[in-house]
Parts: sequence; structure tokens; C-alpha cells
Amino acid sequence: MNNRVHQGHFARKRFGQNFLHDNYIIESIVAAIQPKQGEALVEIGPGLAALTVPVSKLVDHLTVIEIDRDLASRLVENPFLQNKISVIEQDALNFDFNQLSDTLGQPLRVFGNLPYNISTPLMFHLFEYAPIITDMHFMLQKEVVKRLVAAPNSKDYGRLSVMAQYYCQIIPVLEVPPTSFKPAPKVDSAVVKLIPYKQKPYLVNDIKVLSRITTEAFNQRRKTIRNSLGNLFTVEQISELGIDPNLRAENLTVEQYCLLTNAWK
Ligand code: SAM
Repeated sequence: MNNRVHQGHFARKRFGQNFLHDNYIIESIVAAIQPKQGEALVEIGPGLAALTVPVSKLVDHLTVIEIDRDLASRLVENPFLQNKISVIEQDALNFDFNQLSDTLGQPLRVFGNLPYNISTPLMFHLFEYAPIITDMHFMLQKEVVKRLVAAPNSKDYGRLSVMAQYYCQIIPVLEVPPTSFKPAPKVDSAVVKLIPYKQKPYLVNDIKVLSRITTEAFNQRRKTIRNSLGNLFTVEQISELGIDPNLRAENLTVEQYCLLTNAWK
């Protein structure tokens, strides 16, 4: 049988469709989410409802956002889900999560087995809504989870690590082999929990500046910051903050990136 066909649906590569079919993994993810009655649960990319159905058994209502029109109509017609889900047929990358939180009258608990091709931009989109999100559970490529949790002085530490750790506490949950999906992806996967800080450990005045500094520093990660950040700071300015200008991007902590951000004029 064609390995791209699952439950009569042809998996679309452009939507990053790899469907979970491993019950042990599905149960473990649902156990990690711990959905509770009355919460504003939101699933991104429900697909063929591998996570949606078990979550819906524990609560009266959940909202799902699915870009694929065929899958969205299957969800509307799914007999196990009727009266339980609101299906929003839309690109999650453009979705206004503030409006949904306003409608539901509470902060959101977001989860999903994310399409790998858009997982990083989607997380950046969601970080903008951090104040109205309680937590997020995502299946991602294992490499992306390693980058999310990476500490300074490691090869996985990069712009994603700094930005994600600025907004959230990050907890790896479980690793998932390719055989748990149909079709099987070429890479290993992992589930991670992100909890936006209610009070961030370090605050920046302008998040766009943090974004720009991390982009410039990590785009030239082999250079020392006196060179890679030369357009933004003089060597004296960096030294005055107690930061050695001869360090490289990967040697700076999140706190030091925040110090630089707040010193930028
Ligand atoms: N949750 C299902 C599962 O675990 O088997 C499907 C996961 S599959 C990796 C990703 C899902 O996200 C697909 O259903 C795909 O159509 C959907 N998707 C892809 N891009 C999307 C986007 N931009 N917005 C919303 N859903 C998207």
C-alpha cells in the first residue's frame, strides 16, 4: 500500500503531514498535557485526530486549527468529536490567538504535533502571544528541541535558544522514533513543554532589538561579538556592560543578550 495514504487520506508533504499512529506515544502525550475540564485547549494541526479524539474524551470542548480543507471537513464530520470541537480552517501562522483567548474568556493551553516545515516560525508567532498562553506542548524535530533547551557554549545554542528561553521555561517531555508516524519522517522527533514566564527572569525594553542583536550575532557565529555586533556597538560599550568583546555569539547568556538589548540606542 502507498505509505503516504493513511485512513484513506493522502498525506500532503507541503503541509508537513506525518500522522501519529503509535498508541503508547499518543497516550504519553495526552498524559503530559493533562487536559482538564473547562480549560481553553487549542490544538494546532489536528490532522486525522490522533490526539484530538483522546483529548476530547477528557473535556467537553476544544478548538482546533487546521489548514487542510479536506482534513478540516473530516474533523467536522467525525462522529467521536461532534459537539465537542470548534474547527477553524486557517493557517495557524496568521491566526490571532488574542481574539480566541478573548472569546473563550481565559488563557490558552496550546498543543500539537507541528508540521516540521513551519515549526520554528510558528513558535515565534506564538511567543508574541505569551501573556495569554498558559503552556504549549509540541511535537518537533528532535534537533529543534535540542536547540530550544541548549545552554551557552554548545553547538546547539543559537538564536532560537535565546528567544525561546527569554519567553519560556522549556521542559523536554519524550523522544519519538520515526516509526510512530505514517508516513515515517526521516528524522527523530521529540515532545517539549513550553511554559511562558509570568514574570520573566530578564526583561528587554524592545523585543525587536533583542531579535536583531541575536540575528546579527548568530549569523556570524564564528566571529567575536566585537566584529559581529560592530554595526550596533563599540567595543567600549560592550566592555562597559561587563561583557568580554572577544566572546562569540554562543558564549553569551540570555541575560547578557538582554543587557546588550537594553543598552542599544
Ligand atoms: N495531529 C496529527 C497527528 O498527530 O497525527 C497531524 C500532525 S501533522 C505532523 C501536521 C498537521 O498540521 C497536519 O494535519 C497539517 O495539515 C496541519 N498543518 C500544516 N500546516 C499548517 C498551518 N500552517 N496551520 C494549521 N495547520 C497546519
